[in-house]
Amino acid sequence: MKIFLANPRGFCAGVDRAIEIVERAIEKHGSPIYVRHEVVHNKFVVSNLKKKGAIFVDEINEVPKGSVVIFSAHGVSQAVRKDAAEISDIIYDATCPLVTKVHKEVTRRQKQNHQVILIGHAGHPEVEGTLGQSNSSSRITLVESIKDIKDLELSKDLDISYTTQTTLSVDDTQEIVDSLKAKFPKIQAPKKSDICYATQNRQDSVKSMIKNSEMLLVIGSKNSSNSNRLKEIAENAGKPAYLIDGATDIENDWLNGITSIGVTAGASAPEVLVQAVVSYLMMNGGREIIEVSGASESVNFPVPEALRV
Ligand code: SF4
Repeated sequence: MKIFLANPRGFCAGVDRAIEIVERAIEKHGSPIYVRHEVVHNKFVVSNLKKKGAIFVDEINEVPKGSVVIFSAHGVSQAVRKDAAEISDIIYDATCPLVTKVHKEVTRRQKQNHQVILIGHAGHPEVEGTLGQSNSSSRITLVESIKDIKDLELSKDLDISYTTQTTLSVDDTQEIVDSLKAKFPKIQAPKKSDICYATQNRQDSVKSMIKNSEMLLVIGSKNSSNSNRLKEIAENAGKPAYLIDGATDIENDWLNGITSIGVTAGASAPEVLVQAVVSYLMMNGGREIIEVSGASESVNFPVPEALRV
């Protein structure tokens, strides 16, 4: 069995920075520190940070007064920021700068009196945070699919613009944008795509790799949006694909008769898990490991100044 390894794969700059913020905050202030929501959507990463002294909470009201608070890489609403400021003087923001860029777009568009359409998945923490940048919930509308656009009734007098979640399928989003443009020809786009470089590059690499692979393994947790989108690319190409947290999730009958397999990792999955999967595959029929070349990445986001040594 040939093992094709996607490039780029795994950690992006936003995830690297978010994990470093939690680790440095624990070093500086001691444990526990409180992180609102999983700092990144990966079981292994979250479990390691718990061992180091991080406590993950769903809501700010679960944080004891005076504790150190960290916002996750997915970003938070203005209401969460306000609630956190009432209980703590020490807050670190691990929101990915590329999510912050989307937040700023929403704020700018609303100052221009635009109706903003957000393309994204309902209930995802990034989407909740972005919706929560609006000063009025009626001035921002979530659209998940082309069907939602058919049902959308907006006044012809409104200026309309759209923005997106950062980790969507590039192809599905283009179809939704085309449909929006057909219904609202004057709709304004963001200056630059809101789908981030890491999402785009990981999807591109799977699209090229899947041509030579009979199936795909995506290392990533079930709640990781960008990892799910990678799995869908293989499925749309008619190939079986599995989202796994690590090598122990692999079922041997998946590999029966397979002579070529693609392996990639979502933006929140560490390389150590990829290497464990590759080792497992090499012990179970793997003969050759082929690194598939793709876009090179050199993005780096520094941690907040207060955490720099
Ligand atoms: Fe930032 Fe993209 Fe990584 Fe999300 S996937 S943390 S938006 S770089």
